[in-house]
Amino acid sequence: MKLAAPPTLGSRFVAALPGDAEKENRSRQVSNALYTPVLPEAVSDPRLLMLSPTLSAELGLDEAFCQSDSFARLMSGNELFPGVVPFATRYGGHQFGHWAGQLGDGRAINLGELVARDGRFMNLQLKGAGPTPYSRGADGRAVLRSSAREFLCSEAMHFLGVPTTRALSLVLTGDQVVRDMFYDGNPQKEPGAIVCRVAPSFTRFGHFQLCAYWGELDLLRLLIHQCIRDDFPHLGAPTIDSGKDLSRDLMLRWFEEICQSTARMIVHWMCLGFVHGVMNTDNMSVLGLTIDYGPYGWLDHFDPEWTPNTTDAQTRRYRYAEQPDIALWNLYQLANALLPVLEDVPSVEKILQAFPLFYENEWFNRMGEKLGLEDRSGDEGRALIRDLVGLLTLRETDMTLFFRALADLPLMGDVGQDIAVLQHTFYGSEPVEGEHLEQLSGWLQRYEARVKQEAQSPAQRHERMNRVNPWFILRNYLVQEALDRVQEVGDFSGLHALHAVLQSPYAEHKDFPGFHRKRPDWARHRAGASMLSCSS
Ligand code: AMP
Ligand code: MG
Repeated sequence: MKLAAPPTLGSRFVAALPGDAEKENRSRQVSNALYTPVLPEAVSDPRLLMLSPTLSAELGLDEAFCQSDSFARLMSGNELFPGVVPFATRYGGHQFGHWAGQLGDGRAINLGELVARDGRFMNLQLKGAGPTPYSRGADGRAVLRSSAREFLCSEAMHFLGVPTTRALSLVLTGDQVVRDMFYDGNPQKEPGAIVCRVAPSFTRFGHFQLCAYWGELDLLRLLIHQCIRDDFPHLGAPTIDSGKDLSRDLMLRWFEEICQSTARMIVHWMCLGFVHGVMNTDNMSVLGLTIDYGPYGWLDHFDPEWTPNTTDAQTRRYRYAEQPDIALWNLYQLANALLPVLEDVPSVEKILQAFPLFYENEWFNRMGEKLGLEDRSGDEGRALIRDLVGLLTLRETDMTLFFRALADLPLMGDVGQDIAVLQHTFYGSEPVEGEHLEQLSGWLQRYEARVKQEAQSPAQRHERMNRVNPWFILRNYLVQEALDRVQEVGDFSGLHALHAVLQSPYAEHKDFPGFHRKRPDWARHRAGASMLSCSS
């Protein structure tokens, strides 16, 4: 049934866990509580700029209601859904490898959850809705530039098949927000915006870490129980008010699931060339969802050393190739936080030690799919995949275009023909030559031989490959161009075009040829089009 009016929201997180006794909304340290009730601060003139039509339908929201003024007010926090007691949650985290203490929802205000059409609980959260006790003196706001990037990318990831938080709406606030985008003492006014993020749960590694850090073990135990019970219902945990404790086995199975879903998420990122840019433990979801889209980016040419984050340019901690290791490092930090309750070091270590092999198997499997291999278990296929990764770094090669073009190779015993099909995926105009030519030719011969061992027809292979190698990815420079048009002439059509195309990234969009091209030269070093700062 479609809802014509705002649905009533509740929160199992708030119902199960203790909140902050102090009510005052000022930046401060909060103890022995997992959230603080806090109201969004009204904005001047909320206007809906973008809506996710598929998500609003999944949430059972009526189309006409989503176009109403009331919806724009709800999505900015100027009006509240029935039943809502808005709150900001308390978490900590390791930032760039160092413990940072309390962080928390500094500008995200949770509205609570509703039951979606498929029966799942979905939480709604307004990012940029005003300051909270966790704002650490900052303004609690977000600018259009970063909010549009978050809205578009979380939706893009969803349609690519990557586990992610989603974005229901992007609202312009009508207010200006001051940001020093390049951290060079040049603050500017920018239009403010609010994204409504949606996820089954927003619980992060950092929620557990902060309880453990302060030795709040009863709170930690309760949070673990609430998380398993509500966010992992298939594990069949007893209800909290049953008075029954969780068994150690159940908690270990839960931790193992977190490790595995984290590994799967990273495999998706790696196989699509996504670089998160800020894999701090406060930006890691227990559900293995991609969360907190800040200075993220997509590989244009395949460069394992690339990071999109200017703050990370020196140490490159969060570079593309490092993401699996960082994920494991983050899981170790989560494990340390959980151990006072799990109390079983050998079992926890065993689960963590299984991560690299689990990750590797998942990665080989997905890479094998990208190559269109039906049988992905053998050593020969694995060697092909491994060698391809090396090959892609011999000359600047566009990752997305290359994998998409693989499906179009004739593979008729003429390597020259195959290379001609790949030529447009290489940066620079020179022909393939030297070491690169030698390696690529050898690899193509092996690939052809391997493909011919399989029963599937070329048409079947082509179709399979086009389901895993996207035609479109949300390249940084494309978003930057669309944002430039907004800033220069107030034209939002570029953002809408991206939003339209990203909803079917595996299809060819012949009417948008510019969306399936290598990064142009001008974008190589331009801020926003290649690297981004954390300013948002
Ligand atoms: P992030 O780097 O976006 O993951 O944010 C790290 C921490 O800073 C989180 O606790 C955020 O809530 C907080 N934060 C970032 N920007 C703001 C802002 N403009 N106002 C308040 N808190 C912020
Ligand atoms: Mg964050």
